[in-house]
Amino acid sequence: MTDIFSLSGRRALVTGGSRGIGASIVELFARAGAEVAFCHYNDDSRAGALQAQLAKNGLTTHARSCDVSLEDDVDGMTRWLDASLGEIDILVNCAGIGGDKPFVDLSVADWDRMIAVHLRGTFLVTRAHFAKMVKRNYGRIINISSQLAYKGSPGLVHYSAAKAGIVGFTRALSYEGAPHNVTVNSVAPGPIDTDLTAGMSEQFRAMKMAQMPIGRFGRTDEIAPTVLLLASEAGSFYVGQTLSPNGGDVMV
Ligand code: NAD
Repeated sequence: MTDIFSLSGRRALVTGGSRGIGASIVELFARAGAEVAFCHYNDDSRAGALQAQLAKNGLTTHARSCDVSLEDDVDGMTRWLDASLGEIDILVNCAGIGGDKPFVDLSVADWDRMIAVHLRGTFLVTRAHFAKMVKRNYGRIINISSQLAYKGSPGLVHYSAAKAGIVGFTRALSYEGAPHNVTVNSVAPGPIDTDLTAGMSEQFRAMKMAQMPIGRFGRTDEIAPTVLLLASEAGSFYVGQTLSPNGGDVMV
């Protein structure tokens, strides 16, 4: 039987791939047979450690620092990709930042940075590859949103707005991609144990867990398989969807 989850012969770019959810996606994609490149933001040591760990299993990856919110950085990454990997088949926009702050304390700079990394970054990196995918009549784009796009959270107005924007971006672009066999979908995880959530107070963490039917935070390897589904032949009929592995935190 053909493995419908195989990524053999595919080339993938994962932004924010040096740690956390992105690192699990990089690992699963490489194990599924893809040639994988990833970027990170000034996180060379974690990126190098991930590459070394994967290399022990014979899996070669390509890594580079790139601030996805900066057009010049993204252009540089695209030139590097063209030289190192060639045109990509799969793009996962996973780069992201946190930063809780009550709305009354939120500065314009806080707002702009959050929107820039998540939304501008998703726009810039997608723009660099979308037309080439359309021309080649093949592409899989998966944008990492969050269940907070639906649910919201105190202290995370800017984050929730950015993640809801990613859902709208995904739906709108999917109309332009699907006729050319370029599917665009998103994944909206619930709370996952990563560096992003490590700074949460015990009190907030306990409150979150109490809201979740599953009663615990997720692991990064509980998100990556949903991304693999959307990236592989198994997910070929998903268009403009947002899949939400979230332990029941939000049910839609
Ligand atoms: P993390 O902090 O562990 O990893 C973030 C990654 O993004 C790192 O590789 C980092 O280098 C990279 N990054 C940060 N800013 C960047 C920039 N400007 N340009 C390029 N790369 C940049 O975080 P995580 O929890 O693994 O989050 C990954 C994604 O999942 C984010 O988009 C996040 O919003 C989303 N998410 C996380 C959770 C959670 O509970 N952890 C829940 C829902 C969604």
